[in-house]
This record gives sequence, C-alpha cells and structure tokens, in this order.
Amino acid sequence: MKVGEYLKEGGFSVSFEFFPPKDEEGEKRLFETVRKLEALRPTFVSVTYGAGGSTRDRTRKVVKRIHEETGLTVVAHLTCIAHTKEELLEILSDYERMGVENLLALRGDVPRDKPHWRPPEGACSYAKELVELVRKHFGDYFSVGVAAYPEGHPESPNLEWEVKYFKEKVEAGADFAITQMFFVNDYYYRFVELCRKAGLEVPVIPGIMPITNFKQISKFAALCGATIPQSLVERLERAKSPEEVKKIGVEFAVEQCLDLLEHGVPGLHFYTLNRSDATLKIYRAIEPYLPRRG
Ligand SMILES: Cc1cc2nc3c(=O)[nH]c(=O)nc-3n(C[C@H](O)[C@H](O)[C@H](O)COP(=O)(O)OP(=O)(O)OC[C@H]3O[C@@H](n4cnc5c(N)ncnc54)[C@H](O)[C@@H]3O)c2cc1C
Repeated sequence: MKVGEYLKEGGFSVSFEFFPPKDEEGEKRLFETVRKLEALRPTFVSVTYGAGGSTRDRTRKVVKRIHEETGLTVVAHLTCIAHTKEELLEILSDYERMGVENLLALRGDVPRDKPHWRPPEGACSYAKELVELVRKHFGDYFSVGVAAYPEGHPESPNLEWEVKYFKEKVEAGADFAITQMFFVNDYYYRFVELCRKAGLEVPVIPGIMPITNFKQISKFAALCGATIPQSLVERLERAKSPEEVKKIGVEFAVEQCLDLLEHGVPGLHFYTLNRSDATLKIYRAIEPYLPRRG
C-alpha cells in the first residue's frame, strides 16, 4: 500500500512512529509495542533514521522485520545529509528489493557533538534533493513523504521562507507530509492555509506527541521550536506524580486530536517513543470520532 495514493483517494490515516532500538532488549520491547499497536490497524508505521547515518543498519533491520513479520505498511525514514548519493541509492535499492514502498525523505541534522563534521563530497544539502534523487532513479516506485513544520523549522527565519522551501520539496515529487510535533493547533491550521494559498494540495498529517515526561518533552520542544501553551505548562508543573503527568498528557492529546478531527485533518501520526500505553489510551478515547478507514 502506498501512503500517498491512499491519502489521495481520501483515505484517513492513523500512524505510529518508532525509533530503532540500540540493543536486543530494546528491540524485544519495541516489537511488543508494535504488536499491541498493530491491533489498532494503523494505516502505516514509520521507523526513524539516525542523524549522521548512525542507525543505518538498525533502521534497515527494524523496517525489514516489520515488513516481513507483521501485516503493517512501513514508512522508512531516510536522512540524506551524511551520505553520498551512491550510498543513498544503495539504501533505496535495498528497500526496493525488500518490497518496501514508502519513504520519509529528510535532510537530517549536522551532529551537535561534532562541530568539525562536514558532509561527504557530493552529499545532498536539503531534503528536496533526496526527493529528486528518489524520483530520478525509482520513478513512482516509492510513495515519498517529507517533513513539515507548522511553527517553522528552527533554521527558517519566517513562515514565508518555510512554505517556499516546503513547496519546493513537494514539487520535487513528495506526495504526503508529516508535521513536527506541535501543541497549539492554530499553528497547524495557519501553516496548512499558507500551503493552500501557495497552491499546494499535498496532505499534511499532524504529528502528535503524547506528553509522558514533562522534562523530556520540554527539552524536545525547545530543540525543535514547538510551543507548549502556558496553561499546559502550569498544569504539568502542578502535577504531583509521574502518573498525573501522563494523565494530563493523555487528556491534552485527546482534546488536541478531537479538535484536529473536527477540522478535517487527513490523518493522525503519533510519536510513540516506542511505548504503547499513552498512544493506546488516546486512540481508545478518539476512536468513536475517527473517520472510517479503508
Ligand atoms: C515527521 C518528521 C520526521 C523526522 N524524522 C527524522 C529522522 O528519522 N531522523 C532524523 O535525523 N531527523 C528526523 N527529523 C528531523 C529533521 O531531519 C530535521 O528537522 C532537519 O533539521 C531538517 O530536515 P528536513 O527534511 O525538514 O530538511 P529540509 O526540508 O531540507 O529543510 C531544512 C531547512 O533548510 C531550509 N531550506 C530548504 N531548502 C533550502 C534552500 N534551497 N536554501 C536555503 N534553505 C533551504 C528549510 O526552510 C529548513 O529551514 C524528522 C522531522 C520530522 C518533522
């Protein structure tokens, strides 16, 4: 199943994102989570790719296992900044041989702990070039998704800039997009409106991050420039136990998803952090309101 085609035909998508674990114990736990979430019949699951190519083999292994051992459609993330074009083509050919048909094409980040790091000669500088590479060498074999930033990517000086380069990625051949996590829906609505005004009809799936640990989310949010509303910060700060934080996180995400559903979003993508509890609770609460899935 190609995600882009499914969305183009009006299908509503529910998806879960995982990262490749570091060791066998982590992999065992991940596959327990995958099995639990598989029961919800997601449209697809996605597997992240480590910045700098650090998880090349681990991402491949998890993608292959999900593809071969479960009935799930898998979207393989791929970042381009740390690979030569030849390496990228090798990875893509490998996915083609496996029968994996969906990608999330990303630039990735320069490793923060390596200030003198330089990309290899001839590497792609932006995600758009990876999309072009995929289309040039594989035609329509892959459905290609890209990242979207409702509050703007931290490197973008303003939203006009953001939309301008987002448009380039889409016009290079991306057929769907998934957003960075956000906690204020109005930012998502404003971004989608700007895209529509720029003539883009591409489905932009909102990325939902269930809050389970306030400190961890504050750090992630600061890194990617996602605003946590002050009212939510105050509720989380008043929480007396980790369980209460999780409860507030689930309640908030349910409200957020219901509002997004009322606004007719094309799907919901959950950042699971390889855990199923919070996502399952949110899913069960919003299930009666989800559009029917094919
Ligand atoms: C849904 C989602 C999934 C992600 N998964 C991963 C993952 O698996 N692994 C990982 O390492 N990271 C992941 N990321 C993070 C991502 O790699 C970083 O945010 C990265 O900094 C940007 O990647 P991009 O693909 O959005 O880049 P791009 O689309 O290339 O944009 C990066 C910045 O450059 C600007 N820009 C683009 N083109 C030009 C140009 N021609 N001239 C000047 N400026 C330009 C853009 O406006 C933007 O500010 C993910 C992000 C999202 C939202």
